[in-house]
Amino acid sequence: MKALVKQAKGPGNMALLDVAEPRVGPGQVKVKIAHAGICGTDVHIASGEFFHYFPPLVLGHEFSGEVVETGAGVEGIPLGARVTAEPTKSTCRVCPHCISGRYNRCEKRDIAGVVSNGAFTDYVVTRAESIHRLPDSVSLKAAALSEPLAVCVHGVCEQCSVREGDFVLIMGPGAIGLGCAQVAIAHGARVMVAGAAKDAHRLALARSLGAEWTVNVEKENVLDRALAVTKGWGVDLAVEAAGAPGALEVCVEAVRKGGEILQVGLPGAPVPVDMDRLAFKEIRLIGTFGQKRSAWLLALELLKTGRVDAEAMVSDMLSLDEWERGFDIMARGAGLKVLLAPEG
Ligand SMILES: [Zn+2]
Ligand SMILES: [Zn+2]
Repeated sequence: MKALVKQAKGPGNMALLDVAEPRVGPGQVKVKIAHAGICGTDVHIASGEFFHYFPPLVLGHEFSGEVVETGAGVEGIPLGARVTAEPTKSTCRVCPHCISGRYNRCEKRDIAGVVSNGAFTDYVVTRAESIHRLPDSVSLKAAALSEPLAVCVHGVCEQCSVREGDFVLIMGPGAIGLGCAQVAIAHGARVMVAGAAKDAHRLALARSLGAEWTVNVEKENVLDRALAVTKGWGVDLAVEAAGAPGALEVCVEAVRKGGEILQVGLPGAPVPVDMDRLAFKEIRLIGTFGQKRSAWLLALELLKTGRVDAEAMVSDMLSLDEWERGFDIMARGAGLKVLLAPEG
């Protein structure tokens, strides 16, 4: 089968190659890929900036599709079922993180498209526990965004706590930023999204998805806006989803005393933080990475009930053959979420 392979570390080293179809073992499920999303992480792997991946590797960790084969012992997942799957292919099952259900923290976690072969191809084989059947009202197109949405749910609802009426500032209107915005809005929060001038189309989408305020940081002072709408109080939760230098500093100033900052962006290098301000304001600075089962269940519920619109975040649907164009769109920040399909 044809697959997009990262052949070696460093910039580039990407090619469409013919690879062996994966075989199903006991407890595993084989999924025929319908759509697979390109993530910022994939772009960083392509450019050689990301450190935690193991080539040669078929990329792609956000996907939806149809079950075509199940291994011995798999129950409740019929052939032909429309599904999405967690990128977690296996974990150690015995470390304190796995035992407590927080297996996204497991040191031995196998991740599709990062540690072992992923979804920019025809078929993926993964553990049955990672399979989620789709409600009838959730399209395969929307379901391809379940993974980034589960990341947002894990960060906003599990790592942080968002309550009805909270003010939430989102720095960075990428798929994760707008996903966090939608999750917060779905929980009754009032949301401001900040981006750069090149993000005009993303800020417009943020407004149509329910963000009350958007800020072009090249024209307006986001801190002034955040303080103005909260009458000088500050926001309850600030989400750093830009991974840009300076974004965290804005969060520290914009959040209220006793508020929370969620670090979901990956700046790729140390960033300065005014720790005196952090201490003085009793701010809780919280990291988040990946997702776990509980977050997937809520993410799928939000899609099922229409409280989150994932399809609206898909800007481009391309065939796998057009992967270079898709990666280029993502790298330039031109679209929002690009989906690749093996059959075009
Ligand atoms: Zn991702
Ligand atoms: Zn573990």
